[in-house]
Amino acid sequence: MKPRIAVFSLTSCEGCSLAILELEDQLLEILGAVDIVNFREGMTERSWDIDVAFVDGAVSTPHDEEEIRRIRERCRTLVAIGACACLGGVNTLKHDPARPDYRRVVYGDRADWFPTTRARPLSAVVKVDAELPGCPMVKEEFLELVRCLLNGREFRLPPNPVCTECKKLGNPCLYERGEICLGPLTRAGCRAICPSFGSVCEACRGLVDGEALRAGREAFNTQYVVPWEEVVARLRLYGAVSENAEPVAAPAAGGGS
Ligand code: SF4
Ligand code: SF4
Repeated sequence: MKPRIAVFSLTSCEGCSLAILELEDQLLEILGAVDIVNFREGMTERSWDIDVAFVDGAVSTPHDEEEIRRIRERCRTLVAIGACACLGGVNTLKHDPARPDYRRVVYGDRADWFPTTRARPLSAVVKVDAELPGCPMVKEEFLELVRCLLNGREFRLPPNPVCTECKKLGNPCLYERGEICLGPLTRAGCRAICPSFGSVCEACRGLVDGEALRAGREAFNTQYVVPWEEVVARLRLYGAVSENAEPVAAPAAGGGS
């Protein structure tokens, strides 16, 4: 039997679901190996007999919370796709204390019709088996993950930062133009697409771990000399650091970790 795949969207622009439809030729290859049984953007049938669920969007409303718990109960493998599902994404901007009236700005007099909660990644509410970060997710990583699931292989995200891909491509570093780029702290895998087109990395793929994160922090202290508060403020755009937790401590003065 082919694995039964479903794709769901919570609070998001649904761009990551759309990226699956945009796979075109490769989508035909996937369709030969799996059955897609529930995918609102791509089909009318709805089945809840699911092996693997791909979900984009943050948990940002009471309905999202119900929906992700229901999806978790109905599937064997749950994959978060995109920055919204992996980090909370741009939805977390509503936590900015400077925007307490965001619901009135968006919905006007009808704000109370649309109950919301804090925006959270899927992993804050249910167990997640794999994550494909990015805004949107990287299509090649999606294909690789599907192949891994079909062949029983382990899928791993790259441990290195975006700078390693950027330098390999021979891009001039944006710090030479006086810009602040988050590539030293951000997980690679996007082929440094933003710096390659002259835009700074904004950490939509989340932070690297361990030694790579320590080295990135040191680079901001010694090489790029950007105030750490400024770095953390920029890391909040996609929720790479949450507004309360502070997983990235400031580097010690003088270059220590
Ligand atoms: S990660 Fe980006 S592209 Fe994907 S759903 Fe969220 S906002 Fe849209
Ligand atoms: S800091 Fe940004 S522009 Fe410079 S090498 Fe790293 S990713 Fe590229």
